[in-house]
Amino acid sequence: MTQPRRIAIVGAGIAAITCARTLVQAGHSVTVFEKSHGVGGRMSTRSSDFGTFDHGAQYFTVRDARFQQALATVPGLCRPWSANTVQVLDSHGLVAEAGLPAREPHWVAKPGMNALVRGWAKPLTDNRSVELETCVRAIEKDALNPKQWQLRTTGAGDSAHVFSGFDAVVLAIPGPQAQALLGTQAKAAALAKKVAKSTVAPCWTLMLAFPQAVQPGLTTLGPQWNAARSTHHRIAWLARESSKPGRGAIERWTVQASAAWSQEHLQDDDARVTAKLMKAFAEVTGIRAEPAHVEVHRWLYAKTEKPLGVSHLWDAKAGIGVCGDWCLGHRVEDAFVSGLELALAVA
Ligand SMILES: Cc1cc2nc3c(=O)[nH]c(=O)nc-3n(C[C@H](O)[C@H](O)[C@H](O)COP(=O)(O)OP(=O)(O)OC[C@H]3O[C@@H](n4cnc5c(N)ncnc54)[C@H](O)[C@@H]3O)c2cc1C
Repeated sequence: MTQPRRIAIVGAGIAAITCARTLVQAGHSVTVFEKSHGVGGRMSTRSSDFGTFDHGAQYFTVRDARFQQALATVPGLCRPWSANTVQVLDSHGLVAEAGLPAREPHWVAKPGMNALVRGWAKPLTDNRSVELETCVRAIEKDALNPKQWQLRTTGAGDSAHVFSGFDAVVLAIPGPQAQALLGTQAKAAALAKKVAKSTVAPCWTLMLAFPQAVQPGLTTLGPQWNAARSTHHRIAWLARESSKPGRGAIERWTVQASAAWSQEHLQDDDARVTAKLMKAFAEVTGIRAEPAHVEVHRWLYAKTEKPLGVSHLWDAKAGIGVCGDWCLGHRVEDAFVSGLELALAVA
């Protein structure tokens, strides 16, 4: 092992928390900075009066033995989801369904997708090593020790703060956000240039709850399937949240717009996006009932289109690294592997 170092990690998604845990295990001290009010990033769960929605990652697959091993540290937290997935084809207004055999288990965390990262982050949060609601605005050379780094942040109520004395900085955030931060620091220009090669698509997500479906004699509305990939021009994916293990019974659907449609309607307001996606939802599922809960969320950086092609970048001399799903692909497991491999390179 190298000398113990103080390392700042920007972001608290699965890549960041995997990286942080591994660095702590190697004897380093870490501080994680997260702009939102909780950990999990795109493995997130939204609460409503009618139950939760996994409005980011829907499920994950496990192919890497190291991911399997890490999941074994939180036994029972993740469960396979029998999604009963079908492919919904939209041809000339007709919707046909075809069985899609599950090649491998689809895992979900319970009670919500964010529980996995939250569980792994617990030793860090208990230890006060996670600064929530703290957005990193710039990385700079430390004013007192130019061999170290300092971070300029804004927190609740736009309060500005400088955190200093870091031997290294890890950016575990989507590529475009990493590129913007690297751009604030001349020593990171080479990394910024490499990061610029990857691209990522946005995604509008619609969340709907139908409490009327749990009335006596009625268990679900609409189709018999629980999840579907769709070729409808507006919708790429739909899932019945209530079919996932450990969730509430009230019928709830998460609907993800296609990348092309999301891009085209990126600047539309919530009301317009809601109306258009609800119309498409009714066309695909046949559910025309009035939902008791309707919400949309815009993911600016949802799905990698063009990955970096390597698991991480690490400039040992400058002490700056980047990781995240976008380095390898667009999946939860890619983010895990990326965070782990960066930590192993640093440690
Ligand atoms: C709609 C949607 C559906 C998906 N479906 C699936 C799926 O079914 N299966 C699958 O495997 N994957 C899916 N994914 C992808 C999966 O969610 C990601 O691959 C994974 O969660 C990425 O983890 P990460 O740690 O790399 O990044 P993130 O989870 O994005 O974490 C980055 C964190 O950094 C924070 N941050 C950013 N900038 C700053 C800053 N300047 N200061 C402080 N904090 C900052 C963000 O708030 C965020 O919490 C989906 C994603 C979306 C959006």
